[in-house]
Amino acid sequence: MALLAAVLTLAGCGPRATASGSRADSASPTPSRTAGSAAPSPSAAPPSSAGSSSPTGRRKPLQGKVIVLDAGHNDGNFGHTSVIDQLVDAGGFRKPCDTTGTETNAGYHEAAFTWDVTKRLTALLRADGARVVLTRKDDHSVGPCVDVRAAVGNRAHADAAISVHADGNLLSGHGFHVMQPVRMSGGSAVLARSRRLALAVRDAYESGTGMPPANYIGTEGIDPRSDMAGLNLSTVPKVLLECGNMRNAGDAKDLSSAAFRQRIARSLDTAMRAYLR
Ligand SMILES: [Zn+2]
Repeated sequence: MALLAAVLTLAGCGPRATASGSRADSASPTPSRTAGSAAPSPSAAPPSSAGSSSPTGRRKPLQGKVIVLDAGHNDGNFGHTSVIDQLVDAGGFRKPCDTTGTETNAGYHEAAFTWDVTKRLTALLRADGARVVLTRKDDHSVGPCVDVRAAVGNRAHADAAISVHADGNLLSGHGFHVMQPVRMSGGSAVLARSRRLALAVRDAYESGTGMPPANYIGTEGIDPRSDMAGLNLSTVPKVLLECGNMRNAGDAKDLSSAAFRQRIARSLDTAMRAYLR
């Protein structure tokens, strides 16, 4: 395990993470598979009570809305670097299928964090009447690739989609940021709606969790990006949230707390309600 730990470099979310060459494929004891067979098909969460009213007869706040939740990375990625290193369309250029994601210095994986937050948020959104579609079905498979994650939202004709991540940056870097697309397959109208979604997420996250906007990237918690495949390829309003910096001690303490992750989920539920009102 020591050897494995030594050679496995954890790749973060953004372009600063080297996707190829940073992980030793030979360290994986598991034979690689083809992308087609290894990448799991995304899971559409079973229909919830979408469309129904509450027992009191009042219309639920997100009734009739379709929301796609994209939990960043997947813990199965660690053993299948040859799969996730394969290049896919990123919106006019090519990018690796996925990365392993980062982790806290105590070893809490980003993939596990994003899965936990997404599960909590799914429950809240369904209680609000939304139909929730997930881009991955569990926390131990491989992928799916970033282009497929975008396609899930497109096929669902989502009213809103959000990718949930946590950053792995400088130890001194602190706070959250929202990646806002600057060009999208959906065109200018979808881009404008994505900008509005980014602001709703920024405002609700800051007030709901108490975490400040990042001090190392973006402006007031917003980071316009042209290099994110999941945003570029989207035909529905979409943003990517970096919930904090897992390499920063203070942020890591928050992100490792179940109570804080519930606050994150509540804040994102609030953001969706504000955006889709
Ligand atoms: Zn990430």
